[in-house]
Amino acid sequence: MMSKLYINGHWVEGTGDTWDVVCPVTEEVIQRLVLGSAADMDDAIEAASGAFMKWSRTSPAHRAEYLQRIALGVQENKGLLIDLQMRNSGKPFAEAEIDVDAVIDTFSYYAELIAKEPQSHEESINVPGFRGEVTREPIGVAGLISPWNFPMVTTSWKLAPALAAGCTVVVKPSEYTPLAEMALASIIDKVGLPPGVVNFVPGLGHIVGSKLVEDSRVSKVSFTGSGAVGKNIMKQAAETVKNVSLELGGKSPILVFADADIDEAIELVVAGIFYNAGQICSATSRLLVDENIAADFIERLSDRVTVISVGAPSEGAQMGPLVSKTHFQRVVASVERGLALPGAVARIGGGAVAGSRRGFFFAPTVIEILDSTHELWQEEIFGPVLCYMTFASEAEAIALANDSKYGLAAAVVTGCADRARRVSRNLEAGFVTINAPQIVSPRLSWGGYKESSLGRELGRFGLSSFQEVKSILSPI
Ligand code: NAD
Repeated sequence: MMSKLYINGHWVEGTGDTWDVVCPVTEEVIQRLVLGSAADMDDAIEAASGAFMKWSRTSPAHRAEYLQRIALGVQENKGLLIDLQMRNSGKPFAEAEIDVDAVIDTFSYYAELIAKEPQSHEESINVPGFRGEVTREPIGVAGLISPWNFPMVTTSWKLAPALAAGCTVVVKPSEYTPLAEMALASIIDKVGLPPGVVNFVPGLGHIVGSKLVEDSRVSKVSFTGSGAVGKNIMKQAAETVKNVSLELGGKSPILVFADADIDEAIELVVAGIFYNAGQICSATSRLLVDENIAADFIERLSDRVTVISVGAPSEGAQMGPLVSKTHFQRVVASVERGLALPGAVARIGGGAVAGSRRGFFFAPTVIEILDSTHELWQEEIFGPVLCYMTFASEAEAIALANDSKYGLAAAVVTGCADRARRVSRNLEAGFVTINAPQIVSPRLSWGGYKESSLGRELGRFGLSSFQEVKSILSPI
């Protein structure tokens, strides 16, 4: 496994800070890295700039071949990548496997999209008396900044469309989860891309991430992470009028109506918040339940939550730890602070898993909220913490759901098709599920309303976010 930086087709020693990668299950150091420095990032940007002209002129079919090769390489290394996801993030096997499959699917999807649809790059337009053409051209060098909650997956949502568009890239993975990311770099190294087309520089956000954002040779920054850093990136990128896409936080609602299939609703609520230990930007962390069924629903939900097994992937646990000590402490502090305020009552959990075991394990938690302005109801916690309120009418449910600065995802659980359609149209969210788990397909779009996002990833939207549009007008 590579522990170096990948720049200009070579593995090079980092010249930045020393960093310990810690297993969140055992709290042991699993790898000591020398991260990239601002000077290393400078080299990577130079390499990507140097490779851009030639790569940007390649045909979509040519690029599609490389994307397919990457998908194949990930498939061939699936076992290793699952293992690294489990070790570095403590994810259960099933979740780690879903991550790797998502990476394969994303590269395959973009390979197929650009191979089959050349119009995603060029279109003829009829302008009276003239010949019009609209071409989509790669935007330039793209800086891709990923968080730690879905390493490789978030990266592939950016990397696959960027390469498909003809951009060259510098990837800045999270310093907390570089293992699988660098294994992905190693797979990409073997597919024979020209040097400089893809570069990976793990490093500290405020040093190498920041360098990527401020550098004038970088035309686009695609960032997934916290709102605070995202807003800062937007400000910093203004200096060079850089194109920016942001995927930030969320506090997504799940609405359960009295006509829902209750067993199905309970499973959807549980999956929506406890998958990946709640470390999901689109986690449905706000449950809104019809007051007519609330008492029974919460009792049955509590019984279900109590039997979720929390532990190491090797124990076959259903829910793993939080990713790092820092994040664990942040979640503990948010919940403690929130529960000390009036208007919130913990029904289940509310803190670290009891006992003396090692690891950053937070107990699955259910909290009743009595005031919709409560910080536990409004602020993202990014852990396995479900807050709930009741509603008296469909209109009230929609109003409570939309009363948020975020708007990433939402879920509707109802037995009435008309209601499902009506409510989903009225929710201010970029991704709405109806009686369905939150399966994110690269064929759809990803991103949200309000402070959750700027722009959209995945699907054709993801491709166009790495393209400039040029119109050419000429006589017939
Ligand atoms: P973070 O913002 O701390 O870090 C994200 C990435 O940005 C990391 O690679 C980090 O090193 C880098 N970074 C930090 N400071 C930087 C700076 N000044 N300049 C440039 N880069 C910098 O977020 P995190 O803690 O890694 O992830 C958790 C957050 O991400 C949560 O708030 C969550 O909601 C959000 N998230 C959103 C989505 C989405 O699709 N909307 C997906 C996953 C995570």
